[in-house]
Amino acid sequence: MKGLVTKSTGSWYAVTVDDKSYECRIKGKFRTKDIKTTNPIAVGDWVDIELEPEQQTAVIVTLYDRKNYMIRKSVNLSKQAQIIAANIDQAYLVVTLASPPTSLGFIDRFLVTAEAYGIPASILFNKLDLFSQEGLEILADYRSIYEDLGYPCFEISALKGINIGDIEASLMQKITLISGHSGVGKSTLINRIIPEASLRTGKISDWSDRGKHTTTFAEMLPLSQGGYIIDTPGIQEFGVIDIEQQELGHFFPEMRALMHQCRFNNCRHINEPGCAVLAALAEGGIEPSRYDSYLSIYHGNDSRA
Ligand code: GDP
Ligand code: ZN
Repeated sequence: MKGLVTKSTGSWYAVTVDDKSYECRIKGKFRTKDIKTTNPIAVGDWVDIELEPEQQTAVIVTLYDRKNYMIRKSVNLSKQAQIIAANIDQAYLVVTLASPPTSLGFIDRFLVTAEAYGIPASILFNKLDLFSQEGLEILADYRSIYEDLGYPCFEISALKGINIGDIEASLMQKITLISGHSGVGKSTLINRIIPEASLRTGKISDWSDRGKHTTTFAEMLPLSQGGYIIDTPGIQEFGVIDIEQQELGHFFPEMRALMHQCRFNNCRHINEPGCAVLAALAEGGIEPSRYDSYLSIYHGNDSRA
């Protein structure tokens, strides 16, 4: 029977086949091409399962090829990765300008990761109800930066239910990964869209809660109109294993569009003469904040904030 992995605890997996869920374990070895992973199978994976005779459980026997996946670097083993989810149609980053603030560097890092894995990304600006006039102006600036690059932006209030219909329409029939800093309102949003999910929402200062969440794996939540949300509790930072410095510019759409005009085809876009990216930066065609993010990622600076 072919089914979809909708939940994983590391040793047990829930696999959904025609609306029925089976508790499964793994038999045999499953390997991911090109990277070492700490978990062989993740939510979003398509698998074949076989029922175990005289038991309520089943065994995963086949893993189908993935169209994509998102990983994070394993906390303990630097060269290993944890697969967060596979076969993702789109990735949504929930951000807030205040309480807690999301930095542009963090947004850019998320977008680069999504670009590297070929996953369309959107930005959800939440807590619209809290914005002052000044906040709304900053929001308009941010929005124009990212919309000009082709990343859809939404302005919402998960708590007050503002513009949630737009989000719901965009989720239909798709598998959507939802991410963001702790406290930005992911659980509040998911609870609003899927009331049955009844995820716990917490105060930003609830450290014990946050600590507990870091061991949880991602979960797929079915939408009544078709499709799934992938909730990623405790997972704030995605990563790309061994991104080559030389490749990085490809994951910035505005740089990708210009790079072929650079004088040198191995241009790093840092101080080379005849660099089309630096020329665009000087003329205002590239946002300074985006270029700063490029340099920061290029030099391997951690910009978790
Ligand atoms: P998560 O850590 O991303 O899952 O964030 P939560 O959903 O737990 O929300 C963190 C806090 O922000 C809670 O106190 C929520 O009530 C609050 N919150 C979430 N969305 C909004 C919103 O749109 N407006 C306001 N004012 N507060 C919100
Ligand atoms: Zn260049």
